[in-house]
Amino acid sequence: MTQPVVASFGLRLVDGRRLDQPYRNALLPGEVLIDHVGQARLLPRYFYEIDSWAQARDTRLAPHFAVSEFIHTDVREAEPLRVFPRYIPCATALLAIALEQFRNEVGTHVFIGANGGYCSPRHTRLGGASPHSWGTAANIYRVGDTYLDNHEVIARYARIVAELLPTAWTRPLGPEDQWTDDHLHMDLGYVVSVPREAAGENHFAYPIALE
Ligand SMILES: [Zn+2]
Repeated sequence: MTQPVVASFGLRLVDGRRLDQPYRNALLPGEVLIDHVGQARLLPRYFYEIDSWAQARDTRLAPHFAVSEFIHTDVREAEPLRVFPRYIPCATALLAIALEQFRNEVGTHVFIGANGGYCSPRHTRLGGASPHSWGTAANIYRVGDTYLDNHEVIARYARIVAELLPTAWTRPLGPEDQWTDDHLHMDLGYVVSVPREAAGENHFAYPIALE
């Protein structure tokens, strides 16, 4: 298969390994990245392509979460990814579903910070494998009118995440490098999503029951 497939909700699904070299260098599709404790992690291969801010704003991954909320990055992002087209791993849609649950629980807007959604593995803030490069992590800096700028507030929302989404992970509070004290980091882990439209997936129904 050489042509990308159009995903049903409007963004083009692309095989990252078929993108031009500058994008492959930035996204490292399907490659291995080492995390902070030395574990090898397999990066996402399939991405949704976003053509413009207008498309990012108009395309929802969940009822209250548009694509635009996951792609605010600054000059620390790899150069090819600072302009459109932009790319998000397909698993970003799963994060949006989790955030939608959280939003329903708190009953108000949930804000994701700059560089707090998807960051490529070349984003200089990361320095190793982070679920942000899988599209499965969000840094929440504000909920409704409340800023998550002190331990009490962050801990309160971390408890809500823990009760609501027991398999999600939130970063511990504290001043150390990998800890957080001005937002709540939550993630779903190193999830790789392969939509059914992706190359290599079989669309035929076999008359064999796999048990
Ligand atoms: Zn984070």
